[in-house]
Amino acid sequence: MKRYSAFAVAREAFGYHQGWQRAWAAPEPKPEYDVVIIGAGGHGLATAYYLAKNHGVRNIAVVEKGWLGGGNTGRNTTIIRSNYLQEPSAAIYELSRGLYEDLSQKLNFNVMFSPRGVMMLCQTEHELRALRRTAHANRLAGIETEMVSPERVKQLCPIIEISGPRFPVLGGLWQPRGGTARHDAVAWGYARAASDLGVHILQKTEVTGIDVAGGRVTGVQTTRGPIRARKVAAIVAGHSGVIADMAGFRLPIESVTLQALVSEPIKPCMDIVVMANTVHGYMSQSDKGEMVIGGGADGFNNYTQRGSFHHIEETVRALKETFPMLSRLKMLRQWGGIVDMTGDRSPIIGKAPVEGMFLNCGWGTGGFKAIPGSGWATASLIANGEDEVAGPFGLDRFREGRMIDESVAAAVAH
Ligand SMILES: Cc1cc2nc3c(=O)[nH]c(=O)nc-3n(C[C@H](O)[C@H](O)[C@H](O)COP(=O)(O)OP(=O)(O)OC[C@H]3O[C@@H](n4cnc5c(N)ncnc54)[C@H](O)[C@@H]3O)c2cc1C
Repeated sequence: MKRYSAFAVAREAFGYHQGWQRAWAAPEPKPEYDVVIIGAGGHGLATAYYLAKNHGVRNIAVVEKGWLGGGNTGRNTTIIRSNYLQEPSAAIYELSRGLYEDLSQKLNFNVMFSPRGVMMLCQTEHELRALRRTAHANRLAGIETEMVSPERVKQLCPIIEISGPRFPVLGGLWQPRGGTARHDAVAWGYARAASDLGVHILQKTEVTGIDVAGGRVTGVQTTRGPIRARKVAAIVAGHSGVIADMAGFRLPIESVTLQALVSEPIKPCMDIVVMANTVHGYMSQSDKGEMVIGGGADGFNNYTQRGSFHHIEETVRALKETFPMLSRLKMLRQWGGIVDMTGDRSPIIGKAPVEGMFLNCGWGTGGFKAIPGSGWATASLIANGEDEVAGPFGLDRFREGRMIDESVAAAVAH
């Protein structure tokens, strides 16, 4: 694969841009692979890339029913942070945030990582106490965050009304190296780099069955025929329960639509990310100028991958007290993605009850930020049978009552 660089842009400019290669190959499926990964979202693609890059496993297929990055990875509000409460979460989210820092260089693809800072507002005494506790936990875990005053919040984000009548801003948990990245680019960057290492990305190929013999996975049935594999990883977010059902087990996961929307583009007015969890909504400004707004998950389980009007009203109404300027904006687009919620709001990374099968799911409303770290850890788990970072997130924690409670840090109403 030719490298992307300023010289390549100049070279192609002289050649009428005829020399660019396809970013990733579109191979025919082989009858057998060492590893089949179901789902070409960020987590599946990152896992494939790190399996090839860090562990030398090259005979991999990533099987995707739609187009790569077309699931939640291409639908999220792109917030990246690692200010979680529990030690295992801090470890995986901070590993991930750290990998984002030079991901563009590593993948030779501009993922537009923008560490502009993430502010989680405290708008009740309870929230102030909870986030103070998180700040202490972050310090112990070596994660750079700090509690800031309402005046500092206003300084960092002048469009916030800090003396709102119902929910004045009492402070904020500030992570200066949190931020955003371009979601599609993360999927495309991993896909291109994985394809370059020989990984087969099979788009428009739906897995319709899991082959199991004697309690061991032997392959998958797809709309393009059967594929044999000794190891199969299900990395399909909201469809994890569907794949588990095919393999004959159940998961403690609920699938719910999470919605987001963007406003019309306006001049730059907000250069940090703000999460207002009490009124409920989070917002940043995209490079195009649109205000990117996320709200809570739908109040009922569903597989409806689209937005709804009540959600626009609910979210914008909630945010208007804290961001009065929103009342003057037209909303442009809305959409939804099917997120995979666990009871403790932490992911599942581990072995499935079927031998040879692995799970990476349960990221719920917050897995975009985790893509590099999750791919790194899942690849190591698949290659070596265990991984230190992934270890605590195994499925057995639900049986053993060893929850990793992140309902506060998840910061999205469930
Ligand atoms: C509106 C919204 C806002 C969000 N905001 C944030 C945020 O700001 N920050 C953050 O960190 N996270 C956020 N998230 C969560 C984040 O997007 C997800 O946790 C993350 O993208 C999950 O990635 P994934 O690779 O596991 O799943 P996905 O990207 O959903 O990929 C799974 C893939 O599996 C494929 N698939 C499913 N079934 C099959 C099958 N049978 N055969 C083949 N392929 C199959 C799907 O087509 C899909 O492409 C948000 C999510 C949504 C919906």
